[in-house]
Amino acid sequence: MPGVTTTDAWDFSVELRSEPASAEVRTAVLANPAFGKTFTDHMVVANWTVERGWHDARVTAFAPLTVSPAAAVLHYSQEIFEGLKAYRHGDGSVWAFRPDRNAARFTASAARLALPQVPEDAFVSALRALVTVDEPWVPSSDSDETSLYLRPYMIATEAALSVRPAHEVLFGVIASPAGPYFDTGPKPVSIWLTTSTIRATPGGTGAAKCGGNYAASLAGLAEAVANNCEQVAFVDAVEHKWLEEIGSMNLFFVYADGRIVTPGLSGSILEGVTRASVVDLAADLGHKVEERRVSADEWKDGMRSGEITEVFASGTAAVITPIGRLAWPDGDLTIGDHSVDHGVGPVTKSVRSTLLDLQYGRIPDHRGWLTRLA
Ligand SMILES: *Cc1c(COP(=O)(O)O)cnc(C)c1O
Repeated sequence: MPGVTTTDAWDFSVELRSEPASAEVRTAVLANPAFGKTFTDHMVVANWTVERGWHDARVTAFAPLTVSPAAAVLHYSQEIFEGLKAYRHGDGSVWAFRPDRNAARFTASAARLALPQVPEDAFVSALRALVTVDEPWVPSSDSDETSLYLRPYMIATEAALSVRPAHEVLFGVIASPAGPYFDTGPKPVSIWLTTSTIRATPGGTGAAKCGGNYAASLAGLAEAVANNCEQVAFVDAVEHKWLEEIGSMNLFFVYADGRIVTPGLSGSILEGVTRASVVDLAADLGHKVEERRVSADEWKDGMRSGEITEVFASGTAAVITPIGRLAWPDGDLTIGDHSVDHGVGPVTKSVRSTLLDLQYGRIPDHRGWLTRLA
């Protein structure tokens, strides 16, 4: 039956790279890792066909893939991915943060994109298999906010231009050492509010983590850059009124009375693992958290009146990104006191440091959110 495999299919064979990077090269990369530019010595690959299900799960040398120019993914974007990090703790052990959530989201994304299911335990086993082999690539715990970024993905490799779910698929995981997203501590970014492009529609793929959503967001991002902003925020497709997200990060608003508000999951917003964690941690920190519709006007009015005191975005790569400016075709507003903490507000700061402390094992993990990888 398609998609159903015994766990034997996921006994990862390990083919070590014959010429791994030298310790000097690795040390140089780890001293100053750029996000998503350098990759570790190995990768995970597994293949799936309708006839055989999943097979040949392996850890092998990081290398280009060979796919047909007719591979369905190149033409019809049948593709999904995930993003999470491996954190080294003070005792040298390496942990993932809520990988079960990424595994479940991968399963949901696969269903939406008509791709086969990777069993959730196999997903976590794949991460562990790669991190075990490439453990020296996990940055040390000395410097805050360095990690090994893990990128699981699945692509339709079948050479077939007919439009239907592919009969041949590849699952893989690659890993890239990641430094702090901000070199000199978090600094507020500027957001362009676009109404000329829409990221996702009701019934569409907005809630799935798929490359097609990113392709659809790039024109909006280019528009943001052309308007002197760093990121773009999207509104809903029906009324062009309700805030959705940034396209790779979820949005949060802090009110003067301490409330924290984030757009509710509308079906076209991607449910971030960071978002879900912030909702719980902010409540722990004593904030009332509301998940509901937030209009673009509420954002603008709140910034003007001072009722909204801080705005931030959440996502695995940058953790918590403060937002300091909102611009749109006929307006431009800034928020925050830029003479204090580079303009990072106190609530943003405390949510951010609580999350990082948890991820790096510096505070107790009461909820069991951490899973050991190595
Ligand atoms: C991955 C992603 C996020 C953030 O999710 P995290 O699990 O917190 O990293 C937000 N929006 C989109 C569109 C995404 O793809």
